[in-house]
Amino acid sequence: MNSVLQHDLNDLENILEKAKQQGIDFLNDLENIPTSNKNSIDYTRELNELGLGSLSALKEFNERLAPLMVASPGPRYWGFVTGGSTPASIVGDWLATVYDQNTQAIKAQGGSSALIEFETINLLLQLFELPDSFLGGFVTGATMSNFTSLGVARQWFGKQFGKDFAKNGISEPINILTATPHSSSIKSLAMLGIGSNNYTTIKTIEGNREAIDISDLEKNIESLNGRPFILISSAGTVNTADFDDFLAISKLKEKYNFWWHIDAAFGGFAAVSDKFKHLVEGWEGADSITIDCHKWLNVPYESAFYLVKKEHTSLQIETFQNSNAPYLGNPLENFNYLNVLPENSRRLRALPVWFSLLAYGKEGFCDIVENSTSMALHFGNQLIEDGNFELLAPIRLNNVCFTLKGDHNQEKVSQFLTELNDRGKVFMTPTVYRNRKGIRASFVNWRTTENDIQTVIEEMKAVFLEI
Ligand SMILES: *Cc1c(COP(=O)(O)O)cnc(C)c1O
Repeated sequence: MNSVLQHDLNDLENILEKAKQQGIDFLNDLENIPTSNKNSIDYTRELNELGLGSLSALKEFNERLAPLMVASPGPRYWGFVTGGSTPASIVGDWLATVYDQNTQAIKAQGGSSALIEFETINLLLQLFELPDSFLGGFVTGATMSNFTSLGVARQWFGKQFGKDFAKNGISEPINILTATPHSSSIKSLAMLGIGSNNYTTIKTIEGNREAIDISDLEKNIESLNGRPFILISSAGTVNTADFDDFLAISKLKEKYNFWWHIDAAFGGFAAVSDKFKHLVEGWEGADSITIDCHKWLNVPYESAFYLVKKEHTSLQIETFQNSNAPYLGNPLENFNYLNVLPENSRRLRALPVWFSLLAYGKEGFCDIVENSTSMALHFGNQLIEDGNFELLAPIRLNNVCFTLKGDHNQEKVSQFLTELNDRGKVFMTPTVYRNRKGIRASFVNWRTTENDIQTVIEEMKAVFLEI
């Protein structure tokens, strides 16, 4: 063994202790660490011939790289839809690294850690009150979950014409209908060879809504003259957290032949609270669902899962199987994740979720969801009270889409946001909503309190006076 490696091995306890202490220091100081900074590095560093050992590498990390870190797991990082990491999720994530399983099979001599993934998916189905007619698995994020789901949908579409697209390529134009898809679904259409231009945009409901207009949907379906199609629907649009009407879509399922996918990356968490579960009523009728865990479940990056109805497992295997050999017998008997999703090698991504679910239970996640939604309302009310801001859409769940009040201020929106973000007390994302420049604040972090809202409102007042 290389002598530096040998030295590290002998010093393992001390090394991990130092890393642990560093983690504790970061997390305990999260409130004070800026949400953005302008630090940079010269990344042309030469690789050394002789290894430094872990502790010297840690020292260099602290000197050169750690200054790049921002408080993204903290309570005032409201950009994108970024969750934090709870204590239990960190335990699970660290242990997933330590155990370093290659999670593929549920019954194999080389390890059966996929059973932990099965158990975790089963716990998630209970959290979301979904039936066990879904089979699920973990991927890196909602983008890959949409990709996986739409990949199976593509195979399903071919089957309606007696064709195997996975084997022979796409030989029929695929009809995709959607109203307000997330950009990652469109990216998935590009990656799947369907084409990012090849979808039909259905109208949204009149008024300030992003949800699909069911009668326009039905009109578009009728014009397909019985051709099958794929519907990409939304449980939580990213700007205004709007939801398609899943009961109405379920009814259409009785009448028309289509694959129904729901992107519920963060909005699926509505199901966790009695106050909001009506928003997803009927979603169990979908063929596939996407849900992110690194958002509202507050586990560290990267973590999401897909759910695909078990009746489609053979289509899923046709899409993703790792060899051209026919897959014989009951797919659950010699089940292996490498045959049902894009990756072959995969870490035990279920473990942080498993720890989180056991540690905090249904009530813990209901409390996180209800706290986030009340923080969103509180922030919205403060914005209105301030008088210099206006909401671009009603606050339906956890996202606040707003702008500087009045059209004359439109040209100042990006300067305002840049300066606000530069100050490092809060981070929000720019957006465009209905042709107006806006700002989006998304509440999913378990740590956010009313004090954070107060801090941010004060910052916003100060920046507003400056611009
Ligand atoms: C965040 C998000 C995605 C993409 O998720 P990643 O985890 O970044 O891959 C897809 N759909 C919706 C609705 C989202 O909010």
